[in-house]
Amino acid sequence: MRLQQFVLGDLMVNTYLLWDEETLEAVCLDPGEPIQEILTEIKKMKLKLKYILLTHGHCDHILGVNELKAKTGALVLIHSADSSMLTNPVLNLSSLLGAEVVVNATDQLLVDGDILCLGAQMLKVNHTPGHTPGGITITTPGLLFAGDVLFAGSIGRTDLPGGDQEALIGSLHRLLQYPNETRVFPGHGLDTMIGREKLVNPFIKNMVGQ
Ligand SMILES: [Zn+2]
Ligand SMILES: [Zn+2]
Repeated sequence: MRLQQFVLGDLMVNTYLLWDEETLEAVCLDPGEPIQEILTEIKKMKLKLKYILLTHGHCDHILGVNELKAKTGALVLIHSADSSMLTNPVLNLSSLLGAEVVVNATDQLLVDGDILCLGAQMLKVNHTPGHTPGGITITTPGLLFAGDVLFAGSIGRTDLPGGDQEALIGSLHRLLQYPNETRVFPGHGLDTMIGREKLVNPFIKNMVGQ
């Protein structure tokens, strides 16, 4: 599996492009704006973008969806419990930023345990609510894409509409089951590892200590 990261927009969302080297089938996680760098990489590597996969429905993570779908025809996937955020600027928080974002083209609603294939590579969908009701994290052997659930040194906010602190703690416990050497790629900021977060993340240390 190959991985390319982009940091896009004023809210500096981490957008990830993942692909299978054999078939060049690719997925784009949380496309922010502008999407030009993503398109350039797709063209350069001759990738076939199969999926636009959304870890949750907040506007910073979905800004580039409409244009990327129009230019590539990729399928838009989000967990069923966050799908209403795509069409509701209040729920996706874009109304607060003054430029309302609406994504009308959802192709598939995800549930926990869904598997997406890129060639022979498999991506697993884990429902990890708390930051939003339908937040998901994506895992493939050795890698974890954490959305806004777990960050290097921090954890997701639960004070936004749909947030649920108890659910977030449950989701974090689930992520901590992954091996210490699992690389973690969050929705914002630097990448990290599960073992590192157990040692240095004050929120996680609190939880593990309980
Ligand atoms: Zn968010
Ligand atoms: Zn975010």
